[in-house]
Amino acid sequence: MTTLIDTLKIEDSAETAQAAAFSARLEGLSAPEILRLALTGLFPAQIALSSSFGADSAVLLHMVAQIDPQTPVIFLDTDRHFFQTLQYRNQLVKQLGLTHLINLKADPQEAKDFDPKGTLWQQSTDACCALRKVRPLNRVTDDYQAWITGRKRHQSATRTHMPLVEWDGRNYKVNPLADWTPEDISAYMAEHDLPPHPLVEQGYPSIGCFPCTKPVEAGQDARAGRWAGQEKTECGIHSVAYGDGI
Ligand code: SF4
Repeated sequence: MTTLIDTLKIEDSAETAQAAAFSARLEGLSAPEILRLALTGLFPAQIALSSSFGADSAVLLHMVAQIDPQTPVIFLDTDRHFFQTLQYRNQLVKQLGLTHLINLKADPQEAKDFDPKGTLWQQSTDACCALRKVRPLNRVTDDYQAWITGRKRHQSATRTHMPLVEWDGRNYKVNPLADWTPEDISAYMAEHDLPPHPLVEQGYPSIGCFPCTKPVEAGQDARAGRWAGQEKTECGIHSVAYGDGI
Protein backbone atom coordinates (compact mmCIF):
# COMPACT_ATOMS: atom_id res chain seq x y z
CA MET A 1 0.00 0.00 0.00
CA THR A 2 1.29 3.45 -0.82
CA THR A 3 1.80 5.94 2.00
CA LEU A 4 2.20 9.67 2.20
CA ILE A 5 5.24 9.63 4.41
CA ASP A 6 8.48 7.90 3.68
CA THR A 7 12.03 8.69 4.67
CA LEU A 8 15.36 8.97 2.99
CA LYS A 9 18.28 8.28 5.28
CA ILE A 10 21.19 10.68 5.09
CA GLU A 11 24.49 8.85 4.97
CA ASP A 12 27.91 10.39 5.34
CA SER A 13 28.89 11.29 1.81
CA ALA A 14 31.09 13.54 -0.26
CA GLU A 15 28.24 16.06 -0.15
CA THR A 16 28.09 16.15 3.67
CA ALA A 17 31.84 16.79 3.70
CA GLN A 18 31.40 19.46 1.03
CA ALA A 19 28.63 21.12 3.09
CA ALA A 20 30.98 21.25 6.08
CA ALA A 21 33.64 22.83 3.88
CA PHE A 22 31.15 25.42 2.59
CA SER A 23 30.13 26.18 6.20
CA ALA A 24 33.75 26.73 7.20
CA ARG A 25 34.24 29.04 4.22
CA LEU A 26 31.17 31.14 5.16
CA GLU A 27 31.90 31.31 8.89
CA GLY A 28 32.35 34.87 10.10
CA LEU A 29 30.63 36.47 7.08
CA SER A 30 27.53 38.62 7.45
CA ALA A 31 24.19 37.28 6.19
CA PRO A 32 24.25 39.46 3.03
CA GLU A 33 27.83 38.33 2.36
CA ILE A 34 26.83 34.67 2.79
CA LEU A 35 23.92 35.16 0.40
CA ARG A 36 26.01 36.92 -2.20
CA LEU A 37 28.61 34.18 -2.18
CA ALA A 38 25.94 31.45 -2.28
CA LEU A 39 24.06 33.09 -5.17
CA THR A 40 26.99 34.16 -7.29
CA GLY A 41 29.88 31.92 -6.25
CA LEU A 42 28.89 28.57 -4.77
CA PHE A 43 25.63 27.79 -6.60
CA PRO A 44 25.19 30.29 -9.48
CA ALA A 45 21.80 29.84 -11.23
CA GLN A 46 21.32 26.68 -9.18
CA ILE A 47 19.82 28.05 -5.97
CA ALA A 48 16.33 29.10 -4.87
CA LEU A 49 14.92 30.80 -1.78
CA SER A 50 12.24 28.87 0.07
CA SER A 51 9.99 31.41 1.78
CA SER A 52 6.86 31.06 3.90
CA PHE A 53 6.20 34.81 3.68
CA GLY A 54 5.88 34.65 7.44
CA ALA A 55 6.89 36.92 10.30
CA ASP A 56 10.64 37.09 9.50
CA SER A 57 10.56 36.42 5.77
CA ALA A 58 10.94 40.01 4.57
CA VAL A 59 14.58 40.05 5.72
CA LEU A 60 15.88 37.33 3.40
CA LEU A 61 13.57 38.39 0.59
CA HIS A 62 14.99 41.90 0.83
CA MET A 63 18.60 40.68 0.90
CA VAL A 64 18.05 38.40 -2.10
CA ALA A 65 16.29 41.16 -4.04
CA GLN A 66 19.32 43.42 -3.50
CA ILE A 67 21.64 40.81 -5.02
CA ASP A 68 19.48 39.26 -7.76
CA PRO A 69 15.72 39.92 -7.93
CA GLN A 70 15.39 37.12 -10.50
CA THR A 71 16.30 34.51 -7.89
CA PRO A 72 13.55 31.84 -7.78
CA VAL A 73 11.40 32.24 -4.65
CA ILE A 74 9.46 29.10 -3.77
CA PHE A 75 6.20 29.47 -1.83
CA LEU A 76 4.42 26.32 -0.72
CA ASP A 77 0.80 27.24 -1.29
CA THR A 78 -1.08 24.76 0.89
CA ASP A 79 -4.48 26.36 0.29
CA ARG A 80 -4.53 26.61 4.09
CA HIS A 81 -2.70 29.92 4.51
CA PHE A 82 -4.17 32.93 6.27
CA PHE A 83 -5.44 35.39 3.68
CA GLN A 84 -3.14 37.94 5.34
CA THR A 85 -0.15 35.79 4.33
CA LEU A 86 -1.24 35.72 0.70
CA GLN A 87 -1.71 39.49 0.72
CA TYR A 88 1.69 39.92 2.39
CA ARG A 89 3.31 37.66 -0.24
CA ASN A 90 1.86 39.79 -3.03
CA GLN A 91 2.86 43.01 -1.29
CA LEU A 92 6.48 41.96 -0.71
CA VAL A 93 6.98 40.52 -4.19
CA LYS A 94 5.81 43.79 -5.71
CA GLN A 95 7.61 46.09 -3.27
CA LEU A 96 10.95 44.27 -3.53
CA GLY A 97 10.76 43.76 -7.28
CA LEU A 98 11.10 39.98 -7.12
CA THR A 99 10.39 38.56 -10.56
CA HIS A 100 10.42 34.77 -10.12
CA LEU A 101 7.83 33.67 -7.58
CA ILE A 102 6.96 29.98 -7.83
CA ASN A 103 3.70 28.99 -6.15
CA LEU A 104 3.82 25.26 -5.44
CA LYS A 105 0.64 23.34 -4.63
CA ALA A 106 -0.24 19.75 -3.87
CA ASP A 107 -0.68 17.51 -6.88
CA PRO A 108 -4.44 17.65 -7.64
CA GLN A 109 -4.76 13.89 -8.08
CA GLU A 110 -2.87 13.16 -4.87
CA ALA A 111 -5.05 15.68 -3.02
CA LYS A 112 -8.17 13.98 -4.42
CA ASP A 113 -6.91 10.52 -3.49
CA PHE A 114 -5.55 11.24 -0.02
CA ASP A 115 -7.56 14.23 1.16
CA PRO A 116 -10.92 14.12 -0.62
CA LYS A 117 -12.68 16.08 2.14
CA GLY A 118 -9.85 18.59 2.67
CA THR A 119 -9.63 17.68 6.34
CA LEU A 120 -6.51 15.51 6.40
CA TRP A 121 -4.87 17.81 8.94
CA GLN A 122 -7.53 16.71 11.44
CA GLN A 123 -6.46 13.07 11.13
CA SER A 124 -2.71 13.47 10.57
CA THR A 125 -0.80 16.71 10.37
CA ASP A 126 2.28 14.76 9.24
CA ALA A 127 0.37 13.32 6.29
CA CYS A 128 -1.17 16.70 5.45
CA CYS A 129 2.25 18.40 5.51
CA ALA A 130 3.64 15.58 3.37
CA LEU A 131 0.87 16.09 0.81
CA ARG A 132 0.88 19.89 0.75
CA LYS A 133 4.49 20.79 1.51
CA VAL A 134 7.06 18.00 1.35
CA ARG A 135 5.92 16.29 -1.83
CA PRO A 136 5.34 19.51 -3.82
CA LEU A 137 8.83 20.64 -2.84
CA ASN A 138 10.30 17.27 -3.73
CA ARG A 139 8.93 17.69 -7.25
CA VAL A 140 11.38 20.54 -7.84
CA THR A 141 14.42 19.47 -5.84
CA ASP A 142 16.18 18.31 -8.99
CA ASP A 143 15.79 21.78 -10.50
CA TYR A 144 18.21 23.28 -7.98
CA GLN A 145 21.45 22.34 -6.32
CA ALA A 146 20.74 24.38 -3.20
CA TRP A 147 18.05 26.14 -1.16
CA ILE A 148 18.23 29.24 1.00
CA THR A 149 16.24 28.97 4.22
CA GLY A 150 15.42 31.47 6.94
CA ARG A 151 15.85 29.07 9.85
CA LYS A 152 17.61 30.22 13.01
CA ARG A 153 19.36 28.32 15.75
CA HIS A 154 17.43 30.01 18.56
CA GLN A 155 14.05 28.83 17.22
CA SER A 156 13.98 25.29 18.58
CA ALA A 157 16.03 22.53 20.14
CA THR A 158 16.21 20.75 16.79
CA ARG A 159 17.88 23.79 15.22
CA THR A 160 20.42 24.58 17.96
CA HIS A 161 23.39 23.12 16.10
CA MET A 162 22.25 23.94 12.57
CA PRO A 163 25.27 24.71 10.34
CA LEU A 164 25.45 27.48 7.75
CA VAL A 165 25.31 24.87 4.98
CA GLU A 166 23.76 21.40 5.23
CA TRP A 167 23.32 18.48 2.87
CA ASP A 168 19.83 16.99 3.20
CA GLY A 169 20.31 13.99 0.94
CA ARG A 170 19.24 15.78 -2.23
CA ASN A 171 20.19 19.42 -1.95
CA TYR A 172 22.41 21.78 -0.03
CA LYS A 173 20.63 24.13 2.35
CA VAL A 174 22.13 27.52 3.07
CA ASN A 175 21.07 29.16 6.33
CA PRO A 176 22.38 32.76 6.28
CA LEU A 177 20.36 33.80 9.37
CA ALA A 178 21.45 30.82 11.49
CA ASP A 179 22.84 32.97 14.31
CA TRP A 180 20.35 35.84 14.04
CA THR A 181 18.26 36.78 17.07
CA PRO A 182 14.74 38.28 17.10
CA GLU A 183 16.42 41.63 17.85
CA ASP A 184 18.58 41.31 14.73
CA ILE A 185 15.44 40.70 12.65
CA SER A 186 13.62 43.70 14.14
CA ALA A 187 16.64 45.95 13.62
CA TYR A 188 17.04 44.90 9.97
CA MET A 189 13.32 45.39 9.25
CA ALA A 190 13.38 48.85 10.85
CA GLU A 191 16.60 49.87 9.07
CA HIS A 192 15.19 48.92 5.67
CA ASP A 193 11.62 50.02 6.41
CA LEU A 194 10.20 46.57 5.67
CA PRO A 195 6.49 46.02 6.42
CA PRO A 196 5.65 43.51 9.17
CA HIS A 197 3.37 40.54 8.53
CA PRO A 198 -0.06 41.85 9.64
CA LEU A 199 -0.59 38.94 12.05
CA VAL A 200 2.51 39.71 14.12
CA GLU A 201 0.74 42.49 16.00
CA GLN A 202 -2.09 40.04 16.71
CA GLY A 203 0.23 37.74 18.67
CA TYR A 204 1.57 35.46 15.95
CA PRO A 205 5.40 35.53 16.03
CA SER A 206 5.55 32.43 13.79
CA ILE A 207 2.98 31.94 11.06
CA GLY A 208 2.04 28.80 9.13
CA CYS A 209 -1.30 27.41 7.95
CA PHE A 210 -4.39 28.65 9.76
CA PRO A 211 -5.54 25.24 11.12
CA CYS A 212 -2.13 24.68 12.71
CA THR A 213 -1.12 28.13 13.98
CA LYS A 214 -2.24 29.86 17.16
CA PRO A 215 -1.20 33.13 18.76
CA VAL A 216 1.23 32.80 21.68
CA GLU A 217 1.27 34.36 25.12
CA ALA A 218 3.96 36.88 26.09
CA GLY A 219 7.12 35.02 27.10
CA GLN A 220 6.20 31.83 25.23
CA ASP A 221 8.52 30.30 22.65
CA ALA A 222 7.93 31.95 19.25
CA ARG A 223 7.03 28.61 17.67
CA ALA A 224 4.78 27.49 20.54
CA GLY A 225 1.71 28.30 18.44
CA ARG A 226 2.73 25.94 15.63
CA TRP A 227 0.95 22.56 15.90
CA ALA A 228 0.19 23.52 19.52
CA GLY A 229 -0.55 20.51 21.71
CA GLN A 230 1.26 18.11 19.36
CA GLU A 231 4.79 16.75 19.45
CA LYS A 232 5.24 17.96 15.88
CA THR A 233 7.58 20.94 15.57
CA GLU A 234 8.55 20.90 11.88
CA CYS A 235 6.52 20.48 8.70
CA GLY A 236 9.07 18.09 7.22
CA ILE A 237 10.62 20.18 4.46
CA HIS A 238 13.59 20.91 6.68
CA SER A 239 14.02 17.42 8.07
CA VAL A 240 17.21 15.73 7.03
CA ALA A 241 14.94 12.81 6.17
CA TYR A 242 12.74 13.87 3.26
CA GLY A 243 9.38 12.27 2.64
CA ASP A 244 9.11 10.80 -0.81
CA GLY A 245 6.75 7.93 -1.55
CA ILE A 246 3.01 8.34 -1.62
FE1 SF4 B 1 -1.72 20.75 6.62
FE2 SF4 B 1 -1.35 22.04 8.94
FE3 SF4 B 1 0.75 21.05 7.55
FE4 SF4 B 1 -0.62 23.18 6.66
S1 SF4 B 1 0.65 23.04 8.55
S2 SF4 B 1 0.06 21.47 5.44
S3 SF4 B 1 -2.75 22.61 7.27
S4 SF4 B 1 -0.92 19.91 8.58
